[in-house]
Amino acid sequence: MNKHLSVIEVKNLHKSYNHIKAVNGISFKVFQGEVFGILGPNGAGKTTTLEIIETLRRPDKGEIMVAGLNVQNHSHEIKEKIGVQLQSSYFFDFLSLRELLNLFASFYKKKIDPLEILAKVELTDKADSWAKHLSGGQKQRFSIAAALVNKPKILFLDEPTTGLDPQARHHLWEVIRRQNQEGITIVLTTHYMEEAEELCHRVAIMDQGKIIAIDTPNNLIKNLLQNGFKKEKIVQQANLEDVFLHLTGRQLRE
Ligand code: ATP
Repeated sequence: MNKHLSVIEVKNLHKSYNHIKAVNGISFKVFQGEVFGILGPNGAGKTTTLEIIETLRRPDKGEIMVAGLNVQNHSHEIKEKIGVQLQSSYFFDFLSLRELLNLFASFYKKKIDPLEILAKVELTDKADSWAKHLSGGQKQRFSIAAALVNKPKILFLDEPTTGLDPQARHHLWEVIRRQNQEGITIVLTTHYMEEAEELCHRVAIMDQGKIIAIDTPNNLIKNLLQNGFKKEKIVQQANLEDVFLHLTGRQLRE
């Protein structure tokens, strides 16, 4: 991670839908090479924030720079540099994964090797399968593959592992980590705190449209403990997920 180079800068962002203040004056930076998490309860404003940075929504107020470009004036150039996995993705049912990736690449006027991209998300053996025949976990991994066709510098993942079984979730974490190790900056939202701890260098916690904390997971936990927080239950060395994975194995099921 390069703490001296921010690839995203958000200053005083506001966005309302009629009378609902979805985002209420937030500011933060994301550094190059970082995995940055946005956490918060339902309705906190996470997706709205992501969609504005992704140039899919217009802010009411604020200055948002992505890869050195202002979202208001350079949405086209920004779209060329970012990859976006939306909360739910729909693909044409009767095209194979190979055909779909070639189609998406054509939007960017790029030639790609679909097998190379499918290998990144462990789906090479499904290259000629239809999207409608993928399991939930495979669909999630394919939606990341689709977000990689333009070789993005920044990848946005909105709740990438929601609804997946523990095996599929752990495999998706590996996929995300590998992309980050290859130099892609990653911004993700999640409701799984364990996922944020595993993957994120820093997290911002949002509530009611505001950022109420921003730091590394370790520092946030340390601060809480320094303020006298104690758990009633003794923390065990293993949890139910460890039992589940021990009994059912770590292999992907489909
Ligand atoms: P979740 O965790 O449930 O995905 P979130 O943190 O991503 O929630 P947002 O989806 O950004 O939150 O929503 C923030 C607020 O804005 C919510 O009150 C939501 O109902 C409202 N909202 C979001 N999109 C729209 C829209 N298109 N029109 C009207 N209100 C909206």
